[in-house]
Amino acid sequence: MADKNPELMEKIVSLSKRRGFIYPSSDIYGGYAGFWGYGPYGGDLGHNIKQHFWDKFILEREDIYPISTSIIMNPQVWEASGHVSGFADPLVECDKCHHRFRADQLEDKNKCPDCGGSLGNERQFNMMFETHVGAMEDDSSVSYLRPETAQGMFTNFKNIIDSFHPKLPFGMAQIGKAFRNEISPRDFLFRSREFEQMEIEYFVDPRDPKKIDQIFSDFYEEQQKFLHEIGLTPAKIHKIDVPAEDRAHYSKKSIDTEYDFPFGQKELLGLAYRTDYDLKAHVGKSSADLSYFDEETQERFIPHCIEPTMGVDRLVMAVLSDAYTEDDLGGEKRTYLKFSSIVAPVKAAVFPLLKNKPELVAKAREVYQMLKKEIPNIEFDDNGNIGKRYRRQDEIGTPYCVTIDFDTLGENPDLKDTVTVRDRDTGEQRRVNIKDIVSELK
Ligand code: ATP
Repeated sequence: MADKNPELMEKIVSLSKRRGFIYPSSDIYGGYAGFWGYGPYGGDLGHNIKQHFWDKFILEREDIYPISTSIIMNPQVWEASGHVSGFADPLVECDKCHHRFRADQLEDKNKCPDCGGSLGNERQFNMMFETHVGAMEDDSSVSYLRPETAQGMFTNFKNIIDSFHPKLPFGMAQIGKAFRNEISPRDFLFRSREFEQMEIEYFVDPRDPKKIDQIFSDFYEEQQKFLHEIGLTPAKIHKIDVPAEDRAHYSKKSIDTEYDFPFGQKELLGLAYRTDYDLKAHVGKSSADLSYFDEETQERFIPHCIEPTMGVDRLVMAVLSDAYTEDDLGGEKRTYLKFSSIVAPVKAAVFPLLKNKPELVAKAREVYQMLKKEIPNIEFDDNGNIGKRYRRQDEIGTPYCVTIDFDTLGENPDLKDTVTVRDRDTGEQRRVNIKDIVSELK
């Protein structure tokens, strides 16, 4: 179990805001508990994580159909899925200050952690956000913001079968927002009330349990590879075989992946064997035919489902805290984000050595334009002095800085048309010919 490090957490929150990664929602009004927004670099970081998911789990395979469904759905969906009756956390309220807490997160279930008052009886609190759809505000117009993206896929199972006639096993994937009215949002992005999920519902043949086991463990391996590829340290990742009493109501087997966040070891993502629970529930409620017909054996049945699920925001947090590094470089303390090149929001920055020399600025602009065609996530910077620019790029995790100096222009004829390329992690610089920069950076 990793030690908690609240000081590190504070540094990450502060850097995230200062450098344009993550801002509190409604910041000028003092924020809004459980809601956050991304600035330019955080947006790109999240985008790169989602793109890697899309590449790995959709584009590199032939058996997973991407889909994008509505956030608000017919409320019958949530009645059938069990969320209306059962998507709840245990809530307790303090008799004195009336603050509310999630009972299962308290060390002492009788004493209020805020004022020391006594806590009332536990009751179940449904976490779905309710809204009214249309002009009537009565019980008939109640609907919900989706608490998971999964149901959008189960309810489109028949559409995918009818449009594409896939053979089992096959899956659907969706990236999208989910909303949960968490009783105590906390730990920065970790427990938010609005967050983004990347989920796959993978349908399998229930007659072949061995193959189901194999597919389940293959997905587990793929999830782990994905985490390593986006730059998480393997020793900080933990496998948790969830015991039956802790599993979601629909799951026959669950493996959670936990990560050593600065506030402790907590769930990063999950993998569940949802059986035919959801499709059967929707058949029961909607009377739609959600079966699969096996042409070879001429049998009709309801497929089972394996669900790998990940939260984008928890991945962003994990990647940020894994990358956060402090060291001494040339006798000076510095902070840098050791992002993997896959997730780094800015892949390289281009500078003129001095900003008041038009010939250097012009050449640097030319190199920047040339690079930008090949590597779009690139920055030009001629603010302040070069040391300051390096510090800024280190803090946003840019792997390489390319500097145009007088030798580039031919002051030393042997070095004409070469630039310096500085490595973020070591601070070392080497000279590279302009025509080779793209291949070197790639
Ligand atoms: P927890 O036990 O931490 O509340 P969960 O088991 O309810 O999480 P799932 O329902 O399995 O979570 O949701 C799938 C994924 O969605 C989680 O692994 C997580 O990455 C993400 N997620 C869930 N709730 C939140 C939240 N409140 N804020 C941010 N991400 C979340």
